[in-house]
Amino acid sequence: MTRIDEKLEPILTTVKERNAGEPEFHQAVIEVMESLGRVVAKHPQFLEEGLIERICEPERQIIFRVPWIDDQNQVRINRGFRVQFNSALGPYKGGIRFHPSVNVGIIKFLGFEQTFKNALTTMPIGGGKGGSDFDPKGRSDREIMRFCQSFMTELHRHIGEYTDVPAGDIGVGGREIGYMFGQYKRLTNRYEAGVLTGKGLSYGGSRARPEATGFGLVFFVRSMLEAHGDSIDGKTAVVSGSGNVACFAIRKLQKYGAKVVACSDSSGYVVDEGGLDLDLVREIKEKRRGRISEYHRIKGTGTYFIEAGKGAIWDVPCEIALPCATQNELNGKHAANLIRNGVRVVAEGANMPCTPDAVEALRRSHVLYAPGKAANAGGVATSALEMQQNASRDSWTFDQTVERLDEIMTNIHDVCAETAEEYGAPGDYVLGANIAGFVRVADAMRALGVV
Ligand code: NDP
Repeated sequence: MTRIDEKLEPILTTVKERNAGEPEFHQAVIEVMESLGRVVAKHPQFLEEGLIERICEPERQIIFRVPWIDDQNQVRINRGFRVQFNSALGPYKGGIRFHPSVNVGIIKFLGFEQTFKNALTTMPIGGGKGGSDFDPKGRSDREIMRFCQSFMTELHRHIGEYTDVPAGDIGVGGREIGYMFGQYKRLTNRYEAGVLTGKGLSYGGSRARPEATGFGLVFFVRSMLEAHGDSIDGKTAVVSGSGNVACFAIRKLQKYGAKVVACSDSSGYVVDEGGLDLDLVREIKEKRRGRISEYHRIKGTGTYFIEAGKGAIWDVPCEIALPCATQNELNGKHAANLIRNGVRVVAEGANMPCTPDAVEALRRSHVLYAPGKAANAGGVATSALEMQQNASRDSWTFDQTVERLDEIMTNIHDVCAETAEEYGAPGDYVLGANIAGFVRVADAMRALGVV
């Protein structure tokens, strides 16, 4: 098992004490710290000037009230968050999540991860994340609009194209970004397109932004397999979730000749032995905003549905497994099942979907394992391309954007692989991603002095 270097132990103790009751944040910090022993051995300067303590402490944390009125005229109160984690490389950048599980610890873990992910893209963007404990499930369009407007009424004073640029995440897609952008524009009286990314095409969005995280994930998987003399073609795959990341990962896997046999949502998972019909999945989840069990009801023979709690999607044998739903969805037992069933690649579309014991099992085995901060960076990279297009008042074609995305993901893969090799752990993408991301942020922070 990887251990924390003794020089870093006191820093971790302080992080835990200062952020009590935030297990996801601790988990994310520990995972990065485990990789840093080799860095400080080689570059002791990174231990000076409190640099690692500073990197673990968000620059700013904003918590605010979000009052809104539901369709029954009842006043509802939610809590909003924006954690502006690190701006050494550029304006804070990271998505907004609407989900009842959201709290400050979850937003901090996501902001911390985002900082290194954004660094890996080599683009000029810092790290941040935001969200609310608002549950969009079952809410009408009008309720969603009123909530987004109230959320932005407070958030607008903290963001801006040179300050902090939010985007979507779980529960926040094109519809929500549109309502938030509309309210921002109204409040500021500025058409500041670069303040939010993930916008619709009609008002400053980038082509291929919806596809970017899922496509980018599959580009990363392709690069991993190619580096090991293998390919996606003909492999069986399982993808958890059925939201934005999952659907576009499925589409690209299918394009590369994989058979994707299962996907899920929070109510359970569906298996289609003949290969999933992605159009049907999207019709159910995006248009009807329904449950994935409907897939089995509609398609029948050759398919089955297993309710959440009665089994896990990771029981389904596959060679490529892409967790694309949420944090800690794939545990040590699931990893053992996947390994036993001959999985070749596990790559994280979601943020921190594998628990520490799952990661350990995968890294110990022959499996090619890619952490989210490298493998799902395609979304934020394309958001940075959207900012670029907004700044130059330009609009690129779909193919041009996907081509850039492919280059960026291939480069992230290569940098992670080369860094792992340089630090004496060839093939360890976790170590490569953590070190390459950390060194870029840390170098910039040192240059900027103690701020
Ligand atoms: P969506 O809201 O579009 O989809 C989320 C999917 O995950 C849904 O199918 C949802 O099911 C399922 N899900 C959510 N919570 C749970 C749970 N507790 N158990 C099982 N399934 C669950 O979100 P995205 O696709 O945008 O995001 C998915 C993951 O990818 C997140 O971890 C996000 O942080 C990460 N990510 C997203 C990026 C993006 O560009 N969107 C960029 C990088 C990372 P249900 O419909 O039942 O809620």
